[in-house]
Amino acid sequence: MNNNLNMECPICKSANLDQMHDRVWSARDTKVFRCNHCFTGFLYPIMKEAEEKKFYADYNEHTKKRGVTLTTDPLELHKKSMKDASKRWEQLDNFFMQDGRILEIGSSTGAFLEQCSQKCECVCVEPDSINRAFASRFSVGQYEYLENIPDGEKFDVICLFHVFEHIRDPFDFLSKCSRLLNEDGSIIIEVPHIEDPLLSVYDLDSYKDFYFQPMHHYIYSENGLRYVFESEGFYETHIVFHQRYGLDNHLAWLKKGKPGGDVKFKELFGNSNEYCRALEKAKKTDTIIYIAKKNGKNYEGQ
Ligand SMILES: [Zn+2]
Repeated sequence: MNNNLNMECPICKSANLDQMHDRVWSARDTKVFRCNHCFTGFLYPIMKEAEEKKFYADYNEHTKKRGVTLTTDPLELHKKSMKDASKRWEQLDNFFMQDGRILEIGSSTGAFLEQCSQKCECVCVEPDSINRAFASRFSVGQYEYLENIPDGEKFDVICLFHVFEHIRDPFDFLSKCSRLLNEDGSIIIEVPHIEDPLLSVYDLDSYKDFYFQPMHHYIYSENGLRYVFESEGFYETHIVFHQRYGLDNHLAWLKKGKPGGDVKFKELFGNSNEYCRALEKAKKTDTIIYIAKKNGKNYEGQ
């Protein structure tokens, strides 16, 4: 559909858009569109910068409201994040060289850094002051914003887990990252994927009502990520289609239409990996891990 709002895809500038959902969690008048050219999903209109600042100053409180975490205590939050962080480290360990300098942006309490700091020297950016103070246990430097990192600091790897989709201007952001990277440096991001099966296979409205939220400006696609990274001079080295949530979680969504899982489904299907592997093979996953180098064209694919 060629829209009549003079809108264009904020990633590839195509005007060929479709509306994906007519509402967004907690944000009145915001809608979700999808580009038919690069397949990225995006919110329109997006939060004003002042609203956004206020939102992040109180982020723990916000996640509590969504029932994602039931605490604002950083120790408890940290413990809850450890399971995901350990899995992530197992998956990505090889991309972090011994004694490398690592920057994690949006580290929260530092659950990933706790793993990574056993091998590398870590620095973090984290806007929430309580979480940032907690992350000092696993990092040699902590900054509130990317802009606070002193000139001349360089890193071998910059990583962001479920943070890149929060960034208002991904082009400007990547250009800043590029300046902070060593010549052979890489960037690793993990983001929600527009081909999440609860959207792309089950087309579940109750899930859409929960899933689309004002702080996720974009829901990236494979093509959209390529477009943004290549525009800023990066070269893709790896792309991984990763399914985080299993059959038990999807059945619970289909049955109850809300998050939180289901004890019976967990008992029956909690340890079954076959479903996730099938989705990964079809590239219908809830998550994409994208790895790109600043310089280097040794594309290995997957
Ligand atoms: Zn596009």
